[in-house]
Amino acid sequence: MKGTREMEIKTAWKQAVWRLKEAGVPEPEMDAWYLLEYATGVTRAAYYTNPDREMPKDETERFLYVVQKREQRIPLQHITGVQDFMGYEFLVNASVLIPRQDTEILVEEAVGLLKHHMCLLDLCTGSGCILLSLLKIAEERGIEEIRGIGTDISGDALKIAEKNKSRLFGQNGDIMAEFLEGDLWEPIREKYGEKMRFDLIVSNPPYISEEEIRSLQEEVRLYDPYIALDGGKDGLCFYREIIGRAPQYLKMGGTLLLEIGCSQGEAVKVLMEEAGFWKVVVKKDLAGLDRVISGVYDS
Ligand code: GLN
Repeated sequence: MKGTREMEIKTAWKQAVWRLKEAGVPEPEMDAWYLLEYATGVTRAAYYTNPDREMPKDETERFLYVVQKREQRIPLQHITGVQDFMGYEFLVNASVLIPRQDTEILVEEAVGLLKHHMCLLDLCTGSGCILLSLLKIAEERGIEEIRGIGTDISGDALKIAEKNKSRLFGQNGDIMAEFLEGDLWEPIREKYGEKMRFDLIVSNPPYISEEEIRSLQEEVRLYDPYIALDGGKDGLCFYREIIGRAPQYLKMGGTLLLEIGCSQGEAVKVLMEEAGFWKVVVKKDLAGLDRVISGVYDS
């Protein structure tokens, strides 16, 4: 940014908040703190110890540059390149859905089911955040011999998932998790055949209906990958595909655990019961909205 001058840090911060607010960013102050720390290393606490400090020109430039990006409604996570999920840091980019806090409910439910010697499957794995968090938690709790496979139709998404795997597990990554490219079950069938069975299948599939996508906030509508959102005309397209085939890939007594949209509980419950699942339960998120559904398959 040419012609940027030195300015007091409080002036720069206020200017950033004002610009973000004007651009319609939902939480301008919070984002300004994140961007300040990301661009200059100055934390909120450090700011308050000396808000009158002159910010060197290069720091001001870096800060205003990222503010300008955020003004265009580019998500914060695409600027910083990371998102926290279940207390772990995941790399993200425009090829993956940014992990959502809501999805932590699904992971927490799944954690309660983890046992030694399990084989997990995560369909539409994206950044790998669900599968990798589960495996990491299992490792931290001393649950042994847990492995997982994540599938996704996007090879670019899986490049990020692979990086996340290395960051979380280092050398051990390849023993813990395998990512396979392809449409839902397809890569499992191709690599392991029809007889492959899992103890637990999880998924946060795309579930937004075509109509709803148009009304999403810009960060999501313009920057999350469309294929990670689009659940077809009624939003249930992936649930039909997943629930219809899951019995074939579950061990006796295995569980299917899915994230759902808040209005989809009843419809997905019916799909699961029709497919022969029992103990079908819908769990709510912290806002009291339907968020996760689970069912057990026994025959
Ligand atoms: N499983 C990934 C997540 O929950 C990606 C989900 C998706 O692409 N719909 O973040």
